[in-house]
Amino acid sequence: MKSKLLTIAAICCVSVSQAQDSLMFRKISDEVMLHSTCYENLRVLCKTVGHRLSGTPAAAKAVKWGEQAMKDAGADKVWLQPVNVPRWHRGKESLELKLGKEYKSVPVLSLGNSQGTDGKPLEAAVVMVYSFDEYKTLPEKEVKGKIVFFNYRFRQDFVNSFEGYSDAVMYRWNSPNVAARRGAAGVIIRSMSTGMDDYPHTGSMHYDDSVKKLPEMAIGNLTADALEAACKKGSVLARMTSECHMKEGLAPSFNVIGEIKGTENPERIITVGGHLDSWDAGEGAHDDGAGCVQSIEVIRAFKAMGFKPRYTIRAVLFMNEENGNKGGMAYSDSAISKKENHILAIESDAGGFSPRGIGLDMPEAQKNQIRKYAPLFLPYNVYDFEKEEGGVDISPIHNKLKVPAAGLIPDSQRYFDYHHTDNDVFEMVNHRELKLGAVTLAQLIYLVCEHGLD
Ligand SMILES: [Zn+2]
Repeated sequence: MKSKLLTIAAICCVSVSQAQDSLMFRKISDEVMLHSTCYENLRVLCKTVGHRLSGTPAAAKAVKWGEQAMKDAGADKVWLQPVNVPRWHRGKESLELKLGKEYKSVPVLSLGNSQGTDGKPLEAAVVMVYSFDEYKTLPEKEVKGKIVFFNYRFRQDFVNSFEGYSDAVMYRWNSPNVAARRGAAGVIIRSMSTGMDDYPHTGSMHYDDSVKKLPEMAIGNLTADALEAACKKGSVLARMTSECHMKEGLAPSFNVIGEIKGTENPERIITVGGHLDSWDAGEGAHDDGAGCVQSIEVIRAFKAMGFKPRYTIRAVLFMNEENGNKGGMAYSDSAISKKENHILAIESDAGGFSPRGIGLDMPEAQKNQIRKYAPLFLPYNVYDFEKEEGGVDISPIHNKLKVPAAGLIPDSQRYFDYHHTDNDVFEMVNHRELKLGAVTLAQLIYLVCEHGLD
């Protein structure tokens, strides 16, 4: 009998607690959906700062903006954490293709971190291949001194577009190394793009130590289709001209951090963040202005609601995710040297679209602690707790300190239309979808503050 009573008491406790959680989820949602400043914050970031590549004056301006936005959100403490970042410079660039009788200039973006042509034209015949494997079958004399066009398509058959991106991205990251090993002179790639348009997509690439640094340029899907058709018909010439290069040494910059001090266990820290830097195209609205303003919104909403978290909550705007991840490393190094106790790190860096889930990169027992609360998220259309994902900025703290990592998973259908293009602008972000992402982040943080994560 006694144990039966205890069981009934336990069930009542659980349901009372769940009812309270459900009520709190609603309060968080109402606060954000009705009073959020995140959409306006994103407008100011996009329209007064614009794109903000690491080490540029625009990135420095973004740091000032972030510091003020954290203060305006009501953070107990705001500070800047020093980060030294690489400086890549794009300069002037052009790609001309001779598909018919005359050269014609096409939309192009050099890949980030790549070395250009010192501003001088590099003219050569184009050799088209569909894959690295196909390239390796060609006789060396056929590719020596040529411009190789890696025509690998972003696969449209993956329902989750991030899987398509993972599948294709090695052509952006590694093509110059593969091409250089057999004596090619330059590389053109089809963009990592789901778009039925002609926006070229930039993004990071790297050079292996042992190879010649070939210029690498991305073209949009429509130009790639035209180039493909021309290559099938006969010989095509290309003229690449680019001033891009990596500058010597590192430049000083910052992560921006705002904090609500915990009431019971202030030494235990929950981090939520996005990255403040962007590529030098568009306005970095989805990537990752959205994650920045959502993280700031968590602070604002909790302060406005008078929620006093048991643990310390930190919103972090990381610097240099795109081409070095120096901000994520500096955050982790600082946590190690100060012997900080981080219980969870969350990242929003997959676009400001409707949230659909939360990726969990942590031991199974902790995943299950969070999954237990999945029904609470269902009314907000958040249901996917199966993916093992955190984020690039929080990967150092996750890898080095074994901090459990979580990543916001928005609907992925449109992200790779905009990603790293001139079209990643404020107007492409929907205010309701952006706010819903902030709601999910705040709800998750509330749960961990209330119920712990051990
Ligand atoms: Zn990003």
